[in-house]
Amino acid sequence: MSGNYARLEAVQQIVNGKNYKTKMTKPLSKIWATDVYNLAKMEEALSKKAFKAIKKTIKTGDALDMATADAVAAAMKDWALSKGVKFFSHVFYPMTGATAEKHDGFIISDSDGNMVTDFNGSLLVKGEPDGSSFPNGGLRVTNAARGYTAWDPTSPAYIMQTDNGATLCIPTTFMSWKGHALDKKIPLLRSNKAMNEAATKVLKTMGEEEVAPLNSSCGAEQEYFLVDANFAAARPDLLLAGRTLFGKAPAKGQEFDDHYFGAIPERVQVFMQDVEDQLYRLGIPAKTHHNEVAPAQFEIAPYFEAANVAADHQQLLMTVFKHTAKRHGFVCLFHEKPFAGINGSGKHVNWSVGNATQGNLLDPGSTPAENLNFLLFCGAVIRGVHKYGPLLRIAASSAGNDHRLGANEAPPAIMSTYLGEQIEGIFNSIKEGKLDDTSETGIMDLGLSQIPTFTKDAGDRNRTSPFAFTGNRFEFRAVGSEMSVAGPLIVMNTMLADSLNWINDKLEAEISAGADKTAAVIAVLKELMNEHGAAVFGGDGYSAEWHKEAVEERGLINLPTSADAYPYLKDDSVKELFESTGVLTAEELESRFKVYAEIYILKIEVEAKLMIDMAKTQIYPAATRYMADLAATGASMADLGIDFDGSTLNTIAGLTGDMMSAVSKLSGLMDIEDHDSEEAHMQFCAKEILPTMAEIRTAADALEAEVADDMWPLATYQEMLNIK
Ligand code: ADP
Ligand code: MG
Repeated sequence: MSGNYARLEAVQQIVNGKNYKTKMTKPLSKIWATDVYNLAKMEEALSKKAFKAIKKTIKTGDALDMATADAVAAAMKDWALSKGVKFFSHVFYPMTGATAEKHDGFIISDSDGNMVTDFNGSLLVKGEPDGSSFPNGGLRVTNAARGYTAWDPTSPAYIMQTDNGATLCIPTTFMSWKGHALDKKIPLLRSNKAMNEAATKVLKTMGEEEVAPLNSSCGAEQEYFLVDANFAAARPDLLLAGRTLFGKAPAKGQEFDDHYFGAIPERVQVFMQDVEDQLYRLGIPAKTHHNEVAPAQFEIAPYFEAANVAADHQQLLMTVFKHTAKRHGFVCLFHEKPFAGINGSGKHVNWSVGNATQGNLLDPGSTPAENLNFLLFCGAVIRGVHKYGPLLRIAASSAGNDHRLGANEAPPAIMSTYLGEQIEGIFNSIKEGKLDDTSETGIMDLGLSQIPTFTKDAGDRNRTSPFAFTGNRFEFRAVGSEMSVAGPLIVMNTMLADSLNWINDKLEAEISAGADKTAAVIAVLKELMNEHGAAVFGGDGYSAEWHKEAVEERGLINLPTSADAYPYLKDDSVKELFESTGVLTAEELESRFKVYAEIYILKIEVEAKLMIDMAKTQIYPAATRYMADLAATGASMADLGIDFDGSTLNTIAGLTGDMMSAVSKLSGLMDIEDHDSEEAHMQFCAKEILPTMAEIRTAADALEAEVADDMWPLATYQEMLNIK
């Protein structure tokens, strides 16, 4: 057999593959959080005094003294050692959106060679990874490359079990020697602090006497694809780029929608159960799972948690998925668009803010028009979406997500917010200076006595909105499946903080001018709606009319690609937003621009190189071999005096020529090394490299339809999406 060996072998492997059967697993109560060093375990092991101190730090963010850190470290070490752990690791979350760790052993030996374990408060609190290989966007010069990790007690430590052993993982922040945030956790914590301070002011101004600390919450819905590892092994693009760079559309794609909420294939069920058991042991509340729109696409959604913990858990979840997929002979693809023409993957970020005294401030209750706090917080979100639309767009930007945003399967790249009929109606009446709720009460009565009536949600669903109110939270639907949720959460918390500060100033002015609370709220929100109401949109966000109306009539900004979006990080309004809220300094912001630009360019250039390689070394040989076969057949038929139809040969020759001339064009583009700026380089990727890659692909995919199947080297869409 020639070059197609790996692909045909893969099909054989899978067809003869293992028989996957669901195992009975232990009851939830036996496995829940067993691998997490949580408050309950600390309470058991620590003195009353130490426990009180650490609990206070965790609940209120108070500073921690060294004696408590030592006590926690000792107890944590004992617990970990008792579970067979030999290493500990400070886990951090660099600006790339990845998860990073550095492993250290607990063991040191004394001068007599006896085993001694060592782990104390300072090792728990501070680490010093050799972070010089992490992108820092210019925040560290190489000769001052020191970086520190510092324990975040608000996110619990846990034991990561893998086939290579178990490690105690300690979630940490990551900063430079000068104290600049080099990660996604520090700004997330700062954004929460800014939101808490602004929200507390507003609630106090509104006359609330007791206001407990506010926190943001996040529940993320994660979409992903599972592909048999045998196929991935035969596809360098899946292995290295996480997406297919070639592949003809299958005869049957997702046209029938028969996969969505269909029965989950057994092998995938076994995988999901394994994943979920591990997530439960790690204290991650996996709640729903189901098939998604595309064949081989699935979703998992853990129950929502405090944003900081949810963000760490989200990263951990992706790690668990990747490890577990390997064990089950799958590759788990988190890329936003692994298969062209097939639905891509998103990560819906559900977000709300609340506290122990006022509850969820984005919950309208049964009479939203009377719920002034809700109206203020919801208004603050509307202003944020309008004023910082480009920033929200950036929070959902990546080379991968560009393949999905704006196509007819995911929200457009124009940021607007959907409130639902009832809430939109109330805000429209506020714009007129009134506070009316004209909507019907929300009882759902089907007129069937055997089906109980229930209350409807305040909002219907609008799948076409990038930022939708869904009853008691906002759902940021533009976020890509591979991204960390920290970025979007930082932006949402920060824009909310900014809007609440603005609202508070206006409210105080109204009230000191003699307005009562209701009148003050109406006045402030009226002004807010007049300035920022253009971001409220309940129609079809996919339609061409909306794109036109949004830009031409409403003045909203359409940033179709990440290359268009990232430069907005340098906008004065964005700098001002992050500086005034204390979330990012100008230097830290600048470094983020650099890091994101670098990743964007690198991703596209790697794909381009890979594409050139695959076209030259896999597709071209297959096409020419088949041409040789055809030509030989034609020649021997001519010898026998039989007519030979050479049209296929001609087609293949033509397509091969097209493909190879696009390949040389792309190689030429890749040779250009001088670009005036990061902005120009990104535009070059978006406007020159990607379209040339598309040219190569068009020719190659057409070849796939012509070349003999047993000579085609790459696993096909049909195989990858349907053989499980
Ligand atoms: P959908 O119907 O959009 O598919 P799911 O039930 O799959 O919704 O997921 C919704 C997510 O929103 C879950 O993670 C859920 O826990 C989360 N969620 C629910 N209420 C809130 C809230 N108040 N704040 C943040 N997230 C929430
Ligand atoms: Mg959703």
